[in-house]
Amino acid sequence: MNIFRIIAAFVVLWLLVRMVKSYRERARLARSRHSSDRGTMVQCARCDLHIPKAEAIRKGRRYYCSKEHAEE
Ligand SMILES: [Zn+2]
Repeated sequence: MNIFRIIAAFVVLWLLVRMVKSYRERARLARSRHSSDRGTMVQCARCDLHIPKAEAIRKGRRYYCSKEHAEE
């Protein structure tokens, strides 16, 4: 009976470690996405409007504020 308790304890411990690791990974990803995309502002190549990089439309090396400007 004792061996089953030890195995159960190991399984619980392993699950806890996995949960903490995946939580940390998610937090790290959210942080890096936040700093790289939302923090940077880009300028529309057509009308010079400043927009967050996450919302900008990218075409080659240029950024545009809307689809209309990207297609012109
Ligand atoms: Zn524009």
